[in-house]
Amino acid sequence: MTARILVVDDIPANVKLLEARLLAEYFEVLTASNGRDALEICEAGRADVVLLDVMMPDMDGFEVCRRLKTDSATAHIPVVMVTALDQAADRVRGLEVGADDFLTKPANDLQLMTRVKSLVRLKMLTDELRMRASTTRNIGIEELLKKRDISADAPIRALLVDDRASSVEQIEKYLRGVCTLDVVSDPQAAVIEAAEKPYECVLISTALADYDPLRLCSQLRTLDRTRFLPIILIAGQDENQRLVRALELGINDYVTRPVDRQELIARLRTQVKRKRYNDQLRSSVTQTIEMAVTDGLTGLHNRRYLDSHLASLAAKARSRGKPLSVLITDIDRFKSINDTHGHDAGDDILREFAMRLRQSVRGFDLACRYGGEEFVIVMPDTDPALAEKVAERIREQIARNPFTIEQGGKTLEVTISVGVASLKGEPDTASDMMKRADIALYQAKNAGRNRVVASAA
Ligand code: GH3
Ligand code: MG
Ligand code: MG
Repeated sequence: MTARILVVDDIPANVKLLEARLLAEYFEVLTASNGRDALEICEAGRADVVLLDVMMPDMDGFEVCRRLKTDSATAHIPVVMVTALDQAADRVRGLEVGADDFLTKPANDLQLMTRVKSLVRLKMLTDELRMRASTTRNIGIEELLKKRDISADAPIRALLVDDRASSVEQIEKYLRGVCTLDVVSDPQAAVIEAAEKPYECVLISTALADYDPLRLCSQLRTLDRTRFLPIILIAGQDENQRLVRALELGINDYVTRPVDRQELIARLRTQVKRKRYNDQLRSSVTQTIEMAVTDGLTGLHNRRYLDSHLASLAAKARSRGKPLSVLITDIDRFKSINDTHGHDAGDDILREFAMRLRQSVRGFDLACRYGGEEFVIVMPDTDPALAEKVAERIREQIARNPFTIEQGGKTLEVTISVGVASLKGEPDTASDMMKRADIALYQAKNAGRNRVVASAA
């Protein structure tokens, strides 16, 4: 995993030092000696992570960070503030302007690398999601995210895993008014709790009696439900080795005791904001994928989905020695329904028809809207005789129960014609089967409609 790290510092010696260490770990390094150059590099999309000096003439690090984080084109780039002194006030201010982390000069090697690597990982994940979200959708992902206002101060719900009363009391006091905090003292119960409730962050004390806090972290990282749940460790002094291990396991951040209230709040908020951003991206990707294979009017799968699955359903049936059948249904004289009752009434009928189809097939049958008023049902484990029976049952159900249009104002009799075909032995293919079903449908239409024809060929 390599990445481009931008080092920003007005003092050349500082730049050289960080550059050398990063190069030794095979990172690509870009450098800038002032805020303006840094912003330009980031805007051009060339940096994966930014190490940003706080004290710089003209524009200081806080201002650079603030600008990066308020511009939607650069807001997703992780920023690490590099502070000269171990000053809590600087850290807090950095996190408040949106920095993702901070380091104190001179930075401890292990922590520098672990932090940079974990932010690079985060950036890769975000990039991947952004790419998938934007390649499949025409509106810019930034627009979408802006509209939903991720950083909005929606109430935060967090979980604290700690078994010492005094420490629990303190954290509760610190976070009062910042988030709703549930407390669990038993680590095993915490895993279940975290998986079941919609927490946005878990705080774990490393001082648990009789339990390795890293085990809890690794369990949370393994479970599907909690994989993306931010974890912040509350560690003691001198726990550097443990923290490095924990960061490798995928915890997101930590604070050390004695806990600084402002720092805890800022870190918690940063984690939640980041999680919300990535959740939005993830759901927009899922939505995009769903949209691509779903018919908007009926909610059934669309033709694209059928085309990409039919061959594999046929291959599966073959390899298991099971039959596979398909129905193509077409609503009779649908054009005249539109002409007589209007296009909206036609849409109502299509929706209701889709609903009836869904109800009359089994869970593992594949029902989709093939186009217009044509629907296809693919039925695994179904031989020709059974397929014909199913087709007849559907045809009969449609013909017997009139459709409701104009919001219940009217009912309308509708009929369908159906073509049925089944997969034969090799070299017959799924698309041969579809062609036979289509010919059978054509015959049903010619023979007077409202009927089922099974392919004889
Ligand atoms: P046949 O019995 O031979 O199938 O006659 P038909 O009128 O149903 O067939 P034709 O293919 O001539 O017309 C299909 C009509 O379906 C034409 C088209 O306007 C209409 N249609 C296609 N998609 C939609 C839709 O999404 N909504 C509505 N309301 N009508 C649609
Ligand atoms: Mg028709
Ligand atoms: Mg048609």
